[in-house]
Amino acid sequence: MKILDGKKTGNDIKSEIADQVLQLKKSGKRPPHLAAVLVGNDGASLTYVGSKVRSCERIGYESTLIKLPEETTEQTLLNQIQELNTNPAIDGFIVQLPLPAHIDEEKILMAVDPKKDVDGFHPTNFGKMALDMETFIPATPFGIMELIRRYDLDISGKHAVIIGRSHIVGRPMSILLSRKSSPGNATVTLTHSRTKNLSEITKQADIVVSALGVPNFLKANMVKQGAIVIDVGITRVPDESHPKGYVITGDVDFEAVRHKASYITPVPGGVGPMTIAMLLQNTFLAYSRYAN
Ligand code: NAD
Repeated sequence: MKILDGKKTGNDIKSEIADQVLQLKKSGKRPPHLAAVLVGNDGASLTYVGSKVRSCERIGYESTLIKLPEETTEQTLLNQIQELNTNPAIDGFIVQLPLPAHIDEEKILMAVDPKKDVDGFHPTNFGKMALDMETFIPATPFGIMELIRRYDLDISGKHAVIIGRSHIVGRPMSILLSRKSSPGNATVTLTHSRTKNLSEITKQADIVVSALGVPNFLKANMVKQGAIVIDVGITRVPDESHPKGYVITGDVDFEAVRHKASYITPVPGGVGPMTIAMLLQNTFLAYSRYAN
């Protein structure tokens, strides 16, 4: 079994970007600028946005964090998005999800200028991804593909089983893994909460991507010997023995599954750091494509 080390790979990507930023600055150009909008005080969202902003600082990007109160109206948020869309100093921005229940998430994501949509959630960018056109690929699936590429894993012609069909992970993963490109060319099965006999399907998988958000869901008896196992899940499981009062737990029963897997991502230290690295990568792409 080999660990797919997302922390190290993510750091490699970040230092590659930092080198490019240094070159830009040396030649008198401004660095890329990422903004993040956070509505409310959700603990996990605060943590994610905080680490995105810190990563920007470390690699020499400009960053702006816009924190809005929980009771922010949909119109106020739309106005904020419009400001970011038209601000020439901002190359890309994200609206951290989930949003409070009184705000229509779809309406907000539709309002983001596709040229600044570094999360790749706008239908224009999602559609372009499905058609193999130049776009912004959502950071988590992009990170998983980059991990596969950098570890030189051969997935062509292999059976990939994805658990979860969300718009931000499972669905785009199914598109990317089945693409006619490298990495890609996998035969994909996309499973979800209505799938029958899930373990019969996962047992046939050469590669399993688990993105449902149920801690330790994927057991060793659901996985074929030698499979590649990618764990996207991040759940805060209460644990009084831990200083924070919780532990971050993945979807995969790591201790048991690792003995069967050929490659496996840990949680934490797998897909999470890759997601941040690819968000920074997308911001660099936005800067290179559209700045000036
Ligand atoms: P979601 O919560 O929107 O949807 C979950 C999906 O799992 C649904 O499509 C549902 O059909 C499926 N599902 C639920 N129960 C199932 C079952 N018993 N069998 C099969 N399928 C089932 O998903 P999401 O937003 O993609 O998040 C999934 C997990 O990934 C969460 O833990 C989330 O925190 C994590 N996540 C991690 C990162 C990262 O950077 N590592 C990024 C995004 C999401």
